[in-house]
Amino acid sequence: MRLFTKFEHLSNRSRALVPLVAIAAAAFAWGAASGAAQSAKPVRPHARLTRYEYTEYHMGVDVRIVLYAPDKPEAETACAAAFERFAELDTAMSDYRVDSELNRLCAKAGGPAVRVSADLFRPLQRAQELARLSGGAFDATCGPVVRLWRKARKEKALPPPSEIAAAAARTGWRYVELNAAKRTVRLRKPGMQLDLGAIGKGYADDCAQEVLRRHGISSALVEAGGDIVVTDAPPGQPGWRIEVPNSGDAGARPRTFANCAISTSGDLEQSAAIGGKRYSHVVDPRTGWPLTNRIQVTVIARDGLTSDGLSTAVSVLGPIRGRELARRYPGTTVYIRFASGEPDTPSPGRFQPPN
Ligand code: ADP
Ligand code: MG
Repeated sequence: MRLFTKFEHLSNRSRALVPLVAIAAAAFAWGAASGAAQSAKPVRPHARLTRYEYTEYHMGVDVRIVLYAPDKPEAETACAAAFERFAELDTAMSDYRVDSELNRLCAKAGGPAVRVSADLFRPLQRAQELARLSGGAFDATCGPVVRLWRKARKEKALPPPSEIAAAAARTGWRYVELNAAKRTVRLRKPGMQLDLGAIGKGYADDCAQEVLRRHGISSALVEAGGDIVVTDAPPGQPGWRIEVPNSGDAGARPRTFANCAISTSGDLEQSAAIGGKRYSHVVDPRTGWPLTNRIQVTVIARDGLTSDGLSTAVSVLGPIRGRELARRYPGTTVYIRFASGEPDTPSPGRFQPPN
């Protein structure tokens, strides 16, 4: 039996760090929400539902699930299944785990097409779509470049130009061939390394919500790192109260959301200063270099697959081309800001529990 940790409230520290945001564009947010609304499973009287909150570590981050259920056993059963789904998706998508399906696929780069699970194919398909629409600013084949810079951030030393060039040469979404009918993937270049870090957590949030729905939970919030997916509003509330980073309205009340996803990409948590310059964990696959412009992007979309992928893609493309790309995905809002100073900037989206 899995042990759960119950969280009643956000810590005071995280409350203090996260600026609250005004309602200026709330109409849009509700537009996005209503567009994606799905029918709830068995409708339960509000009075019978209680709020439960659990957290578990998956995909390198704390995954938090808040849900409304008739009783604790039902909440725990649903939640255990949702966390189990996270673990299953990690086994498919992880680039850290040597035995993941993704890494087994990469080991065959340069060889014939490989049949893969739907859990791996679906995010790859969206990654390829984003790569095409962004002209390669988003690129799930950026693994060699990401790994090189991960090491550089850790060692606080820039990689030699020859290594950057070599990593960039093993990158390229055009070397990926997907066959949807056969559900196969062919990586055409030896040494290719896929990385679904920019899209996997939002996708996993969506999948976890599907599991919760199958367990009859229609009102839930799933948060993994800076990616949040919510379903119906908590009983008797207008929506889930969420502080939207980067929307420029610090100090106002959090907005309320339902049936939508919110993702934030930025260099606050995983960047490092090398030689006085801050290097993001988001790279520009076209150059082989990380972003250094301190851009922070929050995307509200209909699902986590879309909000997560877009938040990274928009970060690389910048405000003008980024917003153009986001317009391809109906029901999407983009907030962008550039960090002015060092630490005093908003942290990625945090959920604030309803009172
Ligand atoms: P986080 O993972 O912190 O929520 P993102 O969603 O922006 O932030 O994903 C960043 C991760 O995506 C990086 O750690 C890396 O694994 C991968 N990545 C970095 N740059 C790109 C890119 N241009 N295209 C696709 N994936 C990227
Ligand atoms: Mg992302």
